Amino acid sequence: MTKLRLAIVGAGPAGIYAADILLKAERNFEVSIDLFDHLPAPYGLVRYGVAPDHPRIKGIITALRGVLDSGDIRVFGNVRFGVDITLDDLKKHYNAVIFATGAVQDADLNIPGASLDGSYGAADFVSWFDGHPDVPRTWPLEAREIAVIGNGNVALDVSRMLIKHAEDLLPTEIPGNVYDGLAASPVTDVHVFGRRGPTSVKFTPLELREIGELNDVDMIVYDEDFDYDEAAKDAVASNKQVFVIDKTLNAWRARETGTASRRLHLHFFAKPVEVVDDGTGRVAAFRWERTITDAAGGVVGTGEIREIPVQAVYRAVGYFGSELADVPFDKKRGVIPNREGQVLRRDPSAGTGGLFNQQMYGVYATGWIKRGPVGLIGHTKSDAMETIKHLINDLGNWWRPESPSEESIVALLSDRGVRYTGLDGWHNLDQHELALGEAAGRIRIKVVDRDEMVAVSRAE
Ligand SMILES: Cc1cc2nc3c(=O)[nH]c(=O)nc-3n(C[C@H](O)[C@H](O)[C@H](O)COP(=O)(O)OP(=O)(O)OC[C@H]3O[C@@H](n4cnc5c(N)ncnc54)[C@H](O)[C@@H]3O)c2cc1C
Repeated sequence: MTKLRLAIVGAGPAGIYAADILLKAERNFEVSIDLFDHLPAPYGLVRYGVAPDHPRIKGIITALRGVLDSGDIRVFGNVRFGVDITLDDLKKHYNAVIFATGAVQDADLNIPGASLDGSYGAADFVSWFDGHPDVPRTWPLEAREIAVIGNGNVALDVSRMLIKHAEDLLPTEIPGNVYDGLAASPVTDVHVFGRRGPTSVKFTPLELREIGELNDVDMIVYDEDFDYDEAAKDAVASNKQVFVIDKTLNAWRARETGTASRRLHLHFFAKPVEVVDDGTGRVAAFRWERTITDAAGGVVGTGEIREIPVQAVYRAVGYFGSELADVPFDKKRGVIPNREGQVLRRDPSAGTGGLFNQQMYGVYATGWIKRGPVGLIGHTKSDAMETIKHLINDLGNWWRPESPSEESIVALLSDRGVRYTGLDGWHNLDQHELALGEAAGRIRIKVVDRDEMVAVSRAE
């Protein structure tokens, strides 16, 4: 019987679901899967993106772990594609590869002052508060007033983490250095800015409601943003999500404020114009232009410029994928170009400007690196189904590797001195973190230092 030796690069939800779906799929060949990740711990953004005070979502790790524990997948953590292994290596040892490398960079916000001291990308802050091993241990939390730019759930996560009192985060799995940093923060006001109106936000109702329940935080919304036009009224009447969001915001308009020590302000119809320099290269203020809805359902500037003093700005305007060595990349969209998960390369005869329209046999993509950084964890499942369907149907076009044995890739990594961590390693690290947590009366305390993660995993 034919055997598919499959490499999956990226052990986030997309990579793990792809493995699971393939193992359970109807097929007339055997499967052997190796899952690589450059981090010593699996689960991608579920571990390093989802906020620590969202234990229900973090709990998806239990289901993902069940897939890894099924015994049919080998895990190689602490192995970076493009550094420790290359596409040529994979071609020598596997029939195909699926890239599930997600998106971890901040999308650019092209306004003057966006790179001043005190202007931060949301992705970097998220990595810090979730204990990502590759970001610095300390974060400058010196601002009293902060602007957060963006109207999606990441903007809400960032705002909530900034405004929430640190002791309310103690029961979660936040690392010790993150608790210490947040506990010393002098913040009093976080201002969230979105270009469109309240009925066009990308917040999910549950996340929005949650932010209004924070201890000792007043929610401030502004009456001028609620003078709805017909399209906005229609949206409230016809869309349940919008209805709940509108209801939540209006409930806050009616609330008494003034007693809390911290405030979270939501500003709508606010197009970012500039992060203002204090003269020494640091953030001094945030400037925006008031917008109105146009006939096409978008927004246009009114010319009215407003400014608010802030000492820090967080840009939560989206994530962006990273280019992988020898793999086609769409620099505009930050994704691997693909047709339903089949990776496409440029027509070689058309040069560098050619369209991505030729299938690159043996190479597939799934998750955020396939589709772009939008959608929830659950969406990566349907994504993976589509990709796996093509992988199975493409059997005649898989690579024909010269060393397909399972031992050969282990030998290659060992020869190169790569300190990879296996599934047992993850179990070691998991147990260690839970034990650290138990000793301190907390759910878990994450190990943040990469060397320490590797040493604990490898029981060195
Ligand atoms: C701040 C934030 C909060 C979120 N909160 C929620 C939420 O509450 N609920 C929800 O449903 N969704 C949430 N999401 C969305 C969710 O995280 C994504 O839908 C999902 O993680 C995408 O899965 P993925 O596997 O494509 O990418 P990722 O989860 O990013 O996984 C990619 C993996 O690839 C690895 N990798 C990258 N490059 C390489 C390389 N060169 N070599 C080897 N490995 C590599 C990475 O280490 C990572 O483990 C949130 C996202 C963010 C950013």
